Amino acid sequence: NKYVTIKTNINGAPKESNFEIKVENVSFIIESEDVVVKNLFVSIDPYQINRMKSQSSSQGTISFATAITPGESIDSYGVGRVLFSHRPDFKKGDLVAGLLTWGEYSIVKEGSLLNKLDPIMGFPLSYHVGVLGFSGLTAYGGFFQVCKPKPGEKVFVSAASGSVGHLVGQYAKLLGCYVVGSAGSQEKVNFLKERLGFDDAFNYKQETDLKSALKRCFPQGIDVYFDNVGGRMLEAAVANMNSFGRVAVCGVISEYTNATTRAAPEMLDIIYKRITIKGFLAADFMNVYAEFLSKTVEYLKSGKLKTIEDVSLGVESIPSAFIGLFNGENIGKKIVKVADE
Ligand code: NDP
Repeated sequence: NKYVTIKTNINGAPKESNFEIKVENVSFIIESEDVVVKNLFVSIDPYQINRMKSQSSSQGTISFATAITPGESIDSYGVGRVLFSHRPDFKKGDLVAGLLTWGEYSIVKEGSLLNKLDPIMGFPLSYHVGVLGFSGLTAYGGFFQVCKPKPGEKVFVSAASGSVGHLVGQYAKLLGCYVVGSAGSQEKVNFLKERLGFDDAFNYKQETDLKSALKRCFPQGIDVYFDNVGGRMLEAAVANMNSFGRVAVCGVISEYTNATTRAAPEMLDIIYKRITIKGFLAADFMNVYAEFLSKTVEYLKSGKLKTIEDVSLGVESIPSAFIGLFNGENIGKKIVKVADE
């Protein structure tokens, strides 16, 4: 059994030397409630970095998920097939989705997230890790439930070519909003405008002043900001928000790799303009899960929604796939295919 672990806690940007691939003979000690799963696809998510920091550092406490200590295996959302189960609710051969290991096999304990997966005909299995999994639910719930958008409103999305961002922008277009995205390369900007139908997009790395870039893209101000990055972009967006605008704080990736915590930004505009800023977790949206799934499947089938996946192969590619998130190497959902279906 090959799996990924951290050799050392991460401080700043993640590096290959923080990770180690361990190889063990398959000699699982299986308790009666365990389900052994052969992993097929595992999700690569930015939030994992907050689990890998030293928990004594001020940043290590950001994470809502449990800390990973050096040497331990790392769990993430994924899709696999049951190899072995004592539990009556799972049998050998079942397809499952849940918290799996960044490795070839997972031993899923009772109480840990694991559900039988009824794959939707006509779609790749990997979609259940991305557009039909937590990335999709985050985008759908975060946009519709938190931003409370109305047709015609002006919507800004950061990290717009990423897993969550590329879906948020398209949901906003489908509602009839004016949508602008920011991303870290000209290739991504072209992709957003030409392939996904964003009204406009800009490369934030090429802008000397983010406030003016947003002023240029939104001369009449922003009504809704779906924030994937935090930091300076959040401040620039707030400065360009209209009164009673809404900011959904999905993630703050620009701050995950800072070795030191930033000073609290001055954002008095939040008060004067009565802007609503709200953080959320994808799990908050289980009440709209069925609606999300049926709408998203319908949009995908009719071609109104496109999803992009960026798939690497094999357990060995997991560290570089993860590191790549923080260098902007991925377009769309980053997934590692661990084994053939
Ligand atoms: P992405 O697919 O968007 O990958 C991360 C992207 O972030 C990179 O491709 C890169 O694109 C961009 N990025 C990296 N570093 C920076 C930086 N310093 N400043 C600005 N952009 C940067 O990942 P996800 O879609 O999975 O996640 C997006 C955000 O949503 C993250 O903050 C994540 O933590 C959060 N999230 C929150 C959830 C929740 O439940 N609240 C659930 C899932 C995700 P570029 O080239 O544009 O820089």
